[in-house]
Amino acid sequence: SVVNEPLPIRRLQESLINRIAAGEIIHRPASALKELLENCLDAGATSIRVTVKDGGLKLLQIQDNGCGIRRGDLPILAERFTTSKLSSFSDLSRITTYGFRGEALASISHVAHLSVVTKTKTESCAWKAHYLDGNLVAPKPGQTPDPKPCAGNDGTTIIIEDLFYNTPTRLSALRSASEEYSRILDVITKYAVHNPKVAFSCKKAGSPSPDLSTPSTSETAQAIRLLYGHSIAKDLLHTTLGSKKQDEDEDMEGDEMESRDDSQWTAEAHFTNANYQSKKMIFLLFINHRLVESSRMKRALEAVYSGVLPKGASPFIYLSLQINPRDVDVNVHPTKKEVHFLNEDGITDQIADGLQRQLASQSHSRVFEYQT
Ligand code: ADP
Ligand code: MG
Repeated sequence: SVVNEPLPIRRLQESLINRIAAGEIIHRPASALKELLENCLDAGATSIRVTVKDGGLKLLQIQDNGCGIRRGDLPILAERFTTSKLSSFSDLSRITTYGFRGEALASISHVAHLSVVTKTKTESCAWKAHYLDGNLVAPKPGQTPDPKPCAGNDGTTIIIEDLFYNTPTRLSALRSASEEYSRILDVITKYAVHNPKVAFSCKKAGSPSPDLSTPSTSETAQAIRLLYGHSIAKDLLHTTLGSKKQDEDEDMEGDEMESRDDSQWTAEAHFTNANYQSKKMIFLLFINHRLVESSRMKRALEAVYSGVLPKGASPFIYLSLQINPRDVDVNVHPTKKEVHFLNEDGITDQIADGLQRQLASQSHSRVFEYQT
């Protein structure tokens, strides 16, 4: 019968493998945007302008004024595992850039039409290049696939068109352009809070005014006011927390186990006091400048506020945690969304504790130091 007959095992086509892999990293327009924003910040940009059509499904364009990409690097730009940020395995333990896998642009080129306009300071003109399935391609059939010289400012513009054109099931799962657009705005808003010295803007293509716009001169509290409004800003507390630095304990190598328990960290938090009540918790968590999620941290902070706010009310919390890159494992998931670090429970408790004390005293900024 049909049931007992095994089907032959076949090798998947390379193009299909790549498309499946790309789907693991690029879930929706907002996840593509997160990767691209991180690239702009890695490139040292102080201005990032986003233009969106149809929730990013028709067009997602990100223009920055960062360092640009060298013309000679353009042929391999969208190949998988090409990166300027990592060259040896040991680099992984001291990585300070967002990127390092060289997978984002490659992935995007497998599920969208990707083009790039870029100019470094030393080049006299910009270069434009088109990519498909990891390769540099001609803009039109019959033309040569070389990057073409064009006019352009210093920096890089990444243009993504027709996202998921070749994965119809993914496309049909994302029905609402307005839902995708609000997710895009949410990601930019969070990065704008975390990078108050970078000017961000986001608008719909064809619209005269941006839906989000920040100057390049804010402080964190001002950025929160601008992006989240006065009702949050007026009830905001601020604290700086951290492990006490080990004195004179330079010789870490010989005492690996112990020094690892005493992992060094600092955290900065802006969080609402008991006067502010939201229906839904707004939680911005950055670990080593990467926007991540931690249900463990979220639960711990929710517990703190459950003792302060009435039932059903939630706070706003922006938390920026910095840990020795050596102690963070960013390599657990392709999207790098899930981050694990050494002494996670201990650090989480100490942060929750710090917020708790601050809420209890309702005083102004103060520094708590912890001896671990
Ligand atoms: P990764 O960020 O992991 O290196 P990506 O695929 O995101 O991988 O990017 C590949 C390379 O392209 C980067 O290492 C960087 O050299 C270059 N790049 C991408 N975006 C930009 C940008 N906006 N400005 C300058 N260089 C960029
Ligand atoms: Mg990247």
